[in-house]
Amino acid sequence: MSTEKDNANTIHTVKQLCPECSEENEFVLTAAANYIFVCPLCKELCGIDCEYGYANIVPCDILMGSEKIGEITEYRTEHKAKYRLVSERFHIKQKLSGGYADLEAYKEALTVLEPFLKRK
Ligand SMILES: [Zn+2]
Repeated sequence: MSTEKDNANTIHTVKQLCPECSEENEFVLTAAANYIFVCPLCKELCGIDCEYGYANIVPCDILMGSEKIGEITEYRTEHKAKYRLVSERFHIKQKLSGGYADLEAYKEALTVLEPFLKRK
């Protein structure tokens, strides 16, 4: 439960209008530098806030309203950094083949999450 005091001190929220169902959703930000916002109502992609083009796109937290449903993190292979999707909520730990360009890693992560999100 959040209180007035929490709101003033530590909780940062951002509003995103869902392009799919037109609902304005509020997301509770974590400490990540990058975010993927998933609409809590229709479970579609609601928005992305990331440093693509400027800096690294991970760690990236995947938020659904006030809930963090997963994250994209980096792991290092011998030659380069690669990305993986981790979701405690859905018990997913999966390496992504998509990389930085065109946010392929994000797209792939959303594709992996989709069946879990749409499950009733
Ligand atoms: Zn929606």
